[in-house]
Amino acid sequence: MTDLSEKLRDSGLKITPQRMQVMRYVVANPGSHFTAEDIHQELMKTEPTIPISTIYNITRALSDSGLIKAFEINGRMVFESNMETHANFYCTMCNEITDIPISEEAMANLVPPDYVVTDISLIIKGICRTCNVKEVAAEA
Ligand SMILES: [Zn+2]
Ligand SMILES: [Zn+2]
Repeated sequence: MTDLSEKLRDSGLKITPQRMQVMRYVVANPGSHFTAEDIHQELMKTEPTIPISTIYNITRALSDSGLIKAFEINGRMVFESNMETHANFYCTMCNEITDIPISEEAMANLVPPDYVVTDISLIIKGICRTCNVKEVAAEA
């Protein structure tokens, strides 16, 4: 818990109970992808009156400060705590997002020489393994 407040303080954010709650949600769900609505539903269990706009503001502050990553899929902002370089594979059948690791080398090769990548958001859309197997089985 001190760890979380330190993280907030280190990133220059003021510590508020609600920010702490959101951070707690984030660390409790490592490797997952979530929306402001997901966090809102969870926080409403303890604070039923918390407005969704508060969650929007907090998630924006956290992603601006580099504590979480934000990207957009189908017009919705999705957040994650995995700060490692990776592509997000979005399954158009089940809406699941899977992390696909990318090596630093592969990243560097994406841009011409003398260009420096400081941030990357790579979204791959397709059909995940689970759905693909189901499809093949249904066709057989
Ligand atoms: Zn799928
Ligand atoms: Zn991801």
